[in-house]
Amino acid sequence: MIPGIHVSVSGGLDRALDTLTELGLPCGQIFTSNPQQWKGRTLTETEIERYGSRSITIISHTSYLINPASTDRRVENLSFATLGTELERMHLLGIKWCVLHPGAHLGAGDETGIKKISSIARQILLNSPGETGILYENTAGQGTTVGHSFRQLARLLELTDMPEKTGICFDTCHAFAAGYDLSSERAVRETMDEFNNTVGIERIKAFHINDSKRECGSHRDRHAVIGAGLIGLEPLRFLASMPEFKEIPGIAETPGTDSDRAEDIQKIEGREQGRT
Ligand SMILES: [Zn+2]
Ligand SMILES: [Zn+2]
Repeated sequence: MIPGIHVSVSGGLDRALDTLTELGLPCGQIFTSNPQQWKGRTLTETEIERYGSRSITIISHTSYLINPASTDRRVENLSFATLGTELERMHLLGIKWCVLHPGAHLGAGDETGIKKISSIARQILLNSPGETGILYENTAGQGTTVGHSFRQLARLLELTDMPEKTGICFDTCHAFAAGYDLSSERAVRETMDEFNNTVGIERIKAFHINDSKRECGSHRDRHAVIGAGLIGLEPLRFLASMPEFKEIPGIAETPGTDSDRAEDIQKIEGREQGRT
């Protein structure tokens, strides 16, 4: 795995690149716009230039407000527009992937929700600029959110039907909370085998490496510092060392500051690639 962190963009998107460089990280995740607002931010020339000449791998995380499965027409339309402008910003910044929480069906049912999300994603991706694409993030299964089971993720990818422009961002805390054990080397192997049989391991384009404060199957999304939660350091290290994921970003979204997260993700590098 390529170690990275979710990095603050306060002070500008270009400032995030400086932070990653200072912390010695080859990769990071940013918000290209305020995640609590519908209205997208306009990029500055400096930001676009800096991103054009960077050597650091960057992925973006979409707004928390987006819910393409919403039963409220206004939210559905705003989700469509906001996701569309995210891809436009990504294109200007040379970012290939954004991470999307698939959404919550709000009582309409899983299958209805999955159909709506994939239909909206497909419409956006058919017209998306350049190489930009969407990674569905697996969820903890809190409330009516979809994307908590591997079957649902497979269904989202299948219905979106844009294999080059879609993939999965696998969040370890969310998978554990959704009921997939990751708390031992054996559990990691079994869970990743199940993922491979259901979705296909090659569809994973990024990881969120977070430990979990809550137990397996709790459906509660509470990130813990790596090694301080119920998953533990060794299984996450083992996952990070799997040769299949050598070129895949592993982003810490753990509590604390950027430098806390850098220290956190650097813990998973204690094991040699491929050694078991
Ligand atoms: Zn995540
Ligand atoms: Zn989370």
